[in-house]
Amino acid sequence: MDSWWAASAGPGVDAPALTGAVTAEVAVIGAGFTGLNAALALARRGVDVVVLDAGAIGWGASGRNGGFCCLGSAKLSWPAIIRRFGLAEARRFFTLQVAAIDHVRALLADHAIDADAGPEGEITLAHHTAAEAGLAVEAALLREAFGVDCDLLSRQDLAARGLAMAEAGAGLLVPHGFPLHPLKYQLGLARVARAAGVALYGDSAVTGWARAGGFHHLATAGGTVRVRRVVVATAGFTREDLSPAFAGRLLPVLSNIIVTRPLSPDEQAAQGFTSRHMCADSRRLLHYFRLLPDGRLLFGARGGISASPEAEPAMRARLERDLARMFPAFAGVGIDYFWRGLTDLTFDLLPHLGMMEDGSVHYLLGFHGNGVAMASLGGALLGRRLAGEAVDLPAPLTQPLPRFPFPSLRQTYLRLAYAAYGLGDRLGR
Ligand SMILES: Cc1cc2nc3c(=O)[nH]c(=O)nc-3n(C[C@H](O)[C@H](O)[C@H](O)COP(=O)(O)OP(=O)(O)OC[C@H]3O[C@@H](n4cnc5c(N)ncnc54)[C@H](O)[C@@H]3O)c2cc1C
Repeated sequence: MDSWWAASAGPGVDAPALTGAVTAEVAVIGAGFTGLNAALALARRGVDVVVLDAGAIGWGASGRNGGFCCLGSAKLSWPAIIRRFGLAEARRFFTLQVAAIDHVRALLADHAIDADAGPEGEITLAHHTAAEAGLAVEAALLREAFGVDCDLLSRQDLAARGLAMAEAGAGLLVPHGFPLHPLKYQLGLARVARAAGVALYGDSAVTGWARAGGFHHLATAGGTVRVRRVVVATAGFTREDLSPAFAGRLLPVLSNIIVTRPLSPDEQAAQGFTSRHMCADSRRLLHYFRLLPDGRLLFGARGGISASPEAEPAMRARLERDLARMFPAFAGVGIDYFWRGLTDLTFDLLPHLGMMEDGSVHYLLGFHGNGVAMASLGGALLGRRLAGEAVDLPAPLTQPLPRFPFPSLRQTYLRLAYAAYGLGDRLGR
């Protein structure tokens, strides 16, 4: 199940498996955007840091997502965030999300990482006439609460911008974010981190974790790492048995992507979809889609309960059906790639940057399918904090990471949520 990203990223980063006994100041578990950004920030401040990943660099969500470097990371709505934390903290959280996009843009520029960055701005397309009013409400909130200069687009505006989707009679353009090739970004970042002194180990799943004498002892199949502090950056791939401290606190959720063969300019024009902007529809169980530089359409959706290979054909067929309904001119064009991955939900629908135990275990988890930007800046801020810098974070990001009530029922909660969201989406709510 190789991704288009893996097929087009060029050479990978050679990260050997850990062997023998290694000592460092900090161990980062997970070499995605969170872990690599944290490790880079630490190494730049002279901290001796090792990164351990269960797979090759790029195996996790960071190397296989949709490449939307955009606002987000919480699933809790803005009105709910404002109610819970007040407008001032909500504004600080929004400002951090914008800064997170800027952080990625700056990383790419500063290190000459060519990650095929596309045009600025993210577009939401109404999937239902009832959802058009919802976009107007969202635009008003973004303008009034956060001063965002966003544009409501009519059907004619969408057609003029090359954004014609069968269901869409309206759209909302938010002028933040840009699409990128996530694996090129991740591999480039891994090379930068290694050049800064980070020791990177792939194929080194942490399978044992013990405390003794003020040290953490992490065990992999081939070796051990002894450190004073640990960063947990394992997102949707966090195993329940990694540490009792994290058990029951995350709900892994599947996201699924198909990529078509390259579509010619005439084929794109026949649909009226020619823009390289990143787009999503207004469903709760949303679809996200964008044209790639060579004319392929990347089309993704959250959903599916089982990650087993047996469940893949049904999910792929569902994506192809949805694509044909939303883009009739692209029906049956041929799908070259299909893959899936895990993202992480938390009980309070917020991302969490914090520490556990005696302050020696740090984490950044819970991106709700939107971590390209926030995992990057959040990881860097976590690294800076560990290196002793004062880092001022908004309240929505720093709440204690709650445990799910009755964690063994998490899959049931998900089924119920999917059923409710599916019904709401059909009614346009
Ligand atoms: C299909 C898909 C599409 C998505 N699309 C988008 C998008 O377009 N825009 C967006 O903003 N977000 C998107 N996301 C979410 C985004 O990719 C993630 O939020 C983000 O990459 C999280 O980064 P991370 O570094 O925290 O985790 P990851 O990149 O998932 O890295 C975690 C790493 O931890 C490692 N690991 C786990 N357990 C262990 C262990 N015991 N020992 C060692 N290593 C371990 C894993 O191997 C993995 O590499 C998508 C996710 C998926 C799956």
